[in-house]
Amino acid sequence: MTQLDITALRTQLTEQRSRLLQQLQTLRGGNVGRAEASAEHFARSQDSDAQMATARDLELALDDHETQEVAAIDAALARIAAGTYGECVDCGAAITPQRLHAAPEAARCIHCQEAAEKA
Ligand SMILES: [Zn+2]
Repeated sequence: MTQLDITALRTQLTEQRSRLLQQLQTLRGGNVGRAEASAEHFARSQDSDAQMATARDLELALDDHETQEVAAIDAALARIAAGTYGECVDCGAAITPQRLHAAPEAARCIHCQEAAEKA
């Protein structure tokens, strides 16, 4: 059985995230094209309820591929921090190391991923 190398995967995720954020900035004409950065901007001028609503709106608006990937990577990094990385978010089964090394942001085991894509 292949050992899951969390350190290597976290590095891979962090680097992938930086690349995606750079792509987003380029796509958006040099603006900081990131929901969090925009939310930070709004946080300086609005109260926290408005900030949360704004962040949600931005998440809905920024639905392009890169943004979704960044969100998936953020979620994966959060799972690493929480110690639940490598567990399928749907059924709790261990995601195979082979799958995680190929797609470190994967949140579901192959079976649940297939089911989610059909749904
Ligand atoms: Zn599963």
